[in-house]
Amino acid sequence: MAEKKLAGQSALVTGASSGIGEGVALALGEAGANVIVNYNSNPDSANAVVEKIKAFGSKAIAIQADVSKEESVQSMFKQTIKEFGTIDILVNNAGLQKDAKFDEMTLAQWQTVIDINLTGQFLCAREAIREFLRRGPVPERSLATGKIICMSSVHELIPWAGHVNYASSKGAIKMLMQSLAQEYGDRKIRVNSICPGAIQTPINRAAWETPQALNSLMTLIPYNRIGQPSDIGRLAVFLASDDSDYITGTSIFIDGGMTVFEGFATGG
Ligand code: NAD
Repeated sequence: MAEKKLAGQSALVTGASSGIGEGVALALGEAGANVIVNYNSNPDSANAVVEKIKAFGSKAIAIQADVSKEESVQSMFKQTIKEFGTIDILVNNAGLQKDAKFDEMTLAQWQTVIDINLTGQFLCAREAIREFLRRGPVPERSLATGKIICMSSVHELIPWAGHVNYASSKGAIKMLMQSLAQEYGDRKIRVNSICPGAIQTPINRAAWETPQALNSLMTLIPYNRIGQPSDIGRLAVFLASDDSDYITGTSIFIDGGMTVFEGFATGG
């Protein structure tokens, strides 16, 4: 049985009804946290994640909220605090892509990605920090007063033609995360980012669903396998637990080596 490193803590994971969010919610639940499974539009999938977490012996509930809407986020946090008393861990995971060549990108494609990927993280982080400050430290539960994990991407570092809106949102998350770590470090709030490479989820189906696409993807990944949501889940447990108590303001890349730029292995 997995060690219950997060026993007694409450975690909210946004966009947790699929992909990486689901993998993170399951890993946190398995580590003993009570988990809020946020979803926007798929209650059945969210409820399936809730049932899996309950099977680990942790509490879980699904809450609908659109992370890009202030009222929706505030009502989700109210409900979370009503159900679980407080929140110790926020995983800002919800995100999407609206890909287009830059000269053809509509304002709506730009704005939707910024609203969900960036403003969504602002709105959720602000509510979480308000609750951490209101509640104060509980050292018997965790050394830190609160922990925020931002789901960024290798594209906070690697430019991405055809995905300028997405890459811009992830680049901005780096500064959101680091500025929050700077502003609230003395209140014992830790803020870090996870930067996944290619993880097998619905967001990038086109990159892995045919053998040709997968082969082409492997030319970018020295470790020669696509990542799984459970890879990210294990890192999220580490960043949420006291094992990482001296880590704040950092982006951790988890990418099978994508950011060592494999194209340079035989030339340059
Ligand atoms: P996914 O599409 O399975 O998950 C995204 C989730 O966000 C979905 O559950 C979706 O319903 C939810 N969501 C979208 N808009 C929302 C809104 N307005 N409010 C609440 N939830 C909303 O894809 P994923 O790969 O699991 O993506 C999760 C995160 O990981 C994203 O931030 C993405 O940018 C990031 N990421 C993914 C990869 C990858 O290779 N899969 C790589 C780097 C970063």
